[in-house]
Amino acid sequence: MSKLRPSLSNLSRYVVAALLAAVFVFPSFAPSVSRAQDEPANDTAPATPEPNAEPPTPDPNAAPTEAPLAVIEVIATPEPTDTPLPQPRSNDPLVRFVQVGETLNSLAAQSGFSASDLAQRNGLTSPYLLLVGQKIRLPAPPSNNIQLYRVSAGDTMVSIAAQYGISPYVLRHTNDLPCSACLVFGQTLRVPQAGAASALPEPFERIEVSPIVPRQGEVVVVRIAARAPLQQITGMLADRPLRFAQKDGEYIALSGISALQEPGVYPITIRAITQNGLASVVQGRLQVGAGRFGYETLNLSAKLMPLLEPQVNLEERAELDAIFSDFSGTQWWQGPLQWPINSKVVSYYGTRRNFNRGMLNTFHSGIDLTARVGTAVKAAAPGRVAAAQTFPIRGNVIILDHGRGVFTVYCHLSRFEVEVGQIVNAGDVIGYTGNTGRSLGPHLHFELAVGGVTVNPLVWLERELP
Ligand SMILES: [Zn+2]
Repeated sequence: MSKLRPSLSNLSRYVVAALLAAVFVFPSFAPSVSRAQDEPANDTAPATPEPNAEPPTPDPNAAPTEAPLAVIEVIATPEPTDTPLPQPRSNDPLVRFVQVGETLNSLAAQSGFSASDLAQRNGLTSPYLLLVGQKIRLPAPPSNNIQLYRVSAGDTMVSIAAQYGISPYVLRHTNDLPCSACLVFGQTLRVPQAGAASALPEPFERIEVSPIVPRQGEVVVVRIAARAPLQQITGMLADRPLRFAQKDGEYIALSGISALQEPGVYPITIRAITQNGLASVVQGRLQVGAGRFGYETLNLSAKLMPLLEPQVNLEERAELDAIFSDFSGTQWWQGPLQWPINSKVVSYYGTRRNFNRGMLNTFHSGIDLTARVGTAVKAAAPGRVAAAQTFPIRGNVIILDHGRGVFTVYCHLSRFEVEVGQIVNAGDVIGYTGNTGRSLGPHLHFELAVGGVTVNPLVWLERELP
């Protein structure tokens, strides 16, 4: 997770308004899928370490590490930078003529596309045998709102950004550059159109979605700035509603993506009505990436086997959905969530689970923390007690409502220390761990639900919620 974090936070700062305006990509979840997600869940966790909480970020631009050197036809004395090439330079940023010393890998590194993309786009049968002067077509830019710019001598991040009226920060993060001085002569940069945000219909001033490509089990944050006060703002991500709360002059919606959400592209729609009655709609698409989850095989005793019945799972799911559907605009939490007990994770969120040789196949809707019976369980954040009741699978459960559609769930408890409606602070003892419900041994099953979907709690235990 720590590996991922930097790139995620980079992404999150990256303004997606441009993408939104025309072609954007958005994340969404398919409700039908989430429905199927009877997150079953709780059971003890075998101590299988499986830190797939967060998949390593695949580097789409990664080039093969051991590529043979290009075969170069040297014509006269090579002077890569100044000597005109055997072929004319093209003004089309999508066309490159191979220069002395260039390889498919170096072209890939300069253009921001992968070597395999380039090879495929150009039908190269021997991708490592480039000839000087050979014409290479770069793949089209990822979106109509992205322009390509080729770095020339004297360019700096600041000068290029100024030329396009965008911030150097945006330029750097759009291109995943490790530093602001990392420009190379001849490099192709992707430049988001500065005017894109203002191309949004009134009253939208800016729309940001982060992460740009959320993964299964993550939380999508949609931030909207409007030019006029709104009387209403609503949205849909796939067929799940986006519910906005006002904060610091912005409208922010948090939306969870289930571990069972099929990776793919989903529609996102945002509707606003100003106080003057002006109605406006913006539509886009969000790509959802795959999370990486492990696999566990669990065997329940005969006594617990009735809890594998699909009907039991569905009914419990429906009851939880009803609780999670409460939405209060008040945000109770501040900063990241706190760990409910001081322990370690023995089963991660999203883990695919096979109970009793296929009697039930499901996924883990939370994380399991080891704990002896009677360990004090503390509120992960300030909130209101939304439920303190017994479920067949989750056993004795306390659910805290933290506002804005965010809930934490504490399961298999032996005892409650709070009542429904009570307001608690972060760190307050709300109950004690136990072994109730469909549990294979004493532990705390801890869930985080956002926008009605259970997501990976580690995301919010380690990062502040906006
Ligand atoms: Zn569990």
